[in-house]
Amino acid sequence: MNAALYYTGCEENYQPHFLDTCSLCQRTLAHNHDIFMYRGDTPFCSQECRQEQIEMDEAIERKWKIAAAKRSSRTKTETQTTKETDSNKAVLNGTVAVA
Ligand SMILES: [Zn+2]
Repeated sequence: MNAALYYTGCEENYQPHFLDTCSLCQRTLAHNHDIFMYRGDTPFCSQECRQEQIEMDEAIERKWKIAAAKRSSRTKTETQTTKETDSNKAVLNGTVAVA
């Protein structure tokens, strides 16, 4: 759910040939060893490494959201507009169904 909200700027930091080393500690990932994926394309050697990355990302995301909210309230307005549109559609559909 939250993954869809991730900003894309971070992806430039991803290594082209992932699956070679742990994204956090850079330890080589053996093919016969468990690899812990995160966000679909970021490999980690262990659950601990992955968890650490998740926590770092969440901290960054929180800061980013707070900064974005301070800069502008556009995101909030957009969410509200979407909700209103959705309920209008629902009402419209209901009317059509009755008619
Ligand atoms: Zn690691």
